[in-house]
Amino acid sequence: MEEFIFSKEELEFRKNVIEFSEENIAPHAREIDEKNEIPQLIFDAMGKQGYFGLTVPKEYGGLGKGVFYHCNVTEILGKYSGAVSMARNATVYSLTPIQMYGTPEQKEKFLRPLAAGKSLGSICITEPEVGSDTARMETKAVLEGDEWVINGKKRFITNGGQGQHIVWAITNPNAERPQKGMSCFIVPKETKGLSVEKRHDLLGMRGVHNVQLKFENVRIPKEHLIGKENEGFNILMRMFVTERATATAEATAFMLGAIETAKKYSKERVQFGRPIAKFQAIRFMIADMVTICYAARLMLWNLCRQIDAGGNPFKEAAMSKLFASSQGIQICLNALQICGGDGYTKEYPVERYLRDMKLMQIGGGTDQIQKLIIAREELGR
Ligand SMILES: Cc1cc2nc3c(=O)[nH]c(=O)nc-3n(C[C@H](O)[C@H](O)[C@H](O)COP(=O)(O)OP(=O)(O)OC[C@H]3O[C@@H](n4cnc5c(N)ncnc54)[C@H](O)[C@@H]3O)c2cc1C
Repeated sequence: MEEFIFSKEELEFRKNVIEFSEENIAPHAREIDEKNEIPQLIFDAMGKQGYFGLTVPKEYGGLGKGVFYHCNVTEILGKYSGAVSMARNATVYSLTPIQMYGTPEQKEKFLRPLAAGKSLGSICITEPEVGSDTARMETKAVLEGDEWVINGKKRFITNGGQGQHIVWAITNPNAERPQKGMSCFIVPKETKGLSVEKRHDLLGMRGVHNVQLKFENVRIPKEHLIGKENEGFNILMRMFVTERATATAEATAFMLGAIETAKKYSKERVQFGRPIAKFQAIRFMIADMVTICYAARLMLWNLCRQIDAGGNPFKEAAMSKLFASSQGIQICLNALQICGGDGYTKEYPVERYLRDMKLMQIGGGTDQIQKLIIAREELGR
């Protein structure tokens, strides 16, 4: 399939990312999961390759390649370590609003270090009392003289406290609709009043720092507002398209990894005098798995091309993520089943793919929320 989807240059790029991952990530993958930490040397190595700045224009230190290349890196890294991929992805999400809506000064100051991999980035939307219903967030930002003052809490923040934060907050509590009273801000890591309350202990993606943040009279210069005041909801919706394309790529990464493991296992494991790959029940499971993975990848690459062509495929992003995550979890379960008891141990990576895959049905908007979006686009409100 690949030669019809990727150009020669893109195939060469994929080959390089695979070589990079074999050398720099594969040796650490199990330890990252067990110790729940990603060694800094991996971030440094990815920074040198320019993997954080693939979507960023060259004039701001990026590679100017776009979301298609970014998702290729996600799909390859994710197969080796979901956590490494996720920490990089959160950084890419955080630079997207600055890239799309930032001033030249903001790009120079905040985009350049992120693109170079000098700092991780995070997006701060979810709160203890507000998840799916993002518009009703409670964190507030008030303009006092030349500064915005932010108060509130943000939960489940990937890379929180580790670098630059893109924070959404309510700036007009009296707006006719909450969507019209939200703004988006840049809050650097060292800002006074910003603290990490706790690190969440996760089922999967072990290694990423996913935390609850407290904003207590956090003061930032008024120039840290991204785009226009009260237009943060539109920025959020644009960012979600990149996030959902990326989540689709993460899901295909775990599908590919799980399928590869199950295929190899089924050819080697002998029961009733023959490799289990000879049994029709196993063969049909594998046939279904590769067919679904093929479809998910076609959706993914088509979505990425739409984004890079300047489109805003909001519904297509929701459909791709929903398909890849809801089908992907079943693929991981089947792969584990094919590996029998071995699949249930940490000797094989399938249980990790399953744990990592589960997040794809939750983060960036749950499966149920993707269905609401698709239905709204098809049927109206
Ligand atoms: C590991 C991890 C990393 C994350 N990283 C980030 C991050 O970096 N930044 C960030 O801001 N957030 C992050 N999140 C938060 C994530 O986006 C939210 O968990 C997600 O949007 C769901 O919100 P919630 O957990 O509050 O669930 P809720 O919104 O409380 O939903 C609970 C359940 O109710 C369902 N539900 C809710 N509303 C409806 C409805 N209208 N119709 C049908 N069903 C509905 C949901 O689908 C879900 O099954 C992360 C979460 C995790 C677990």
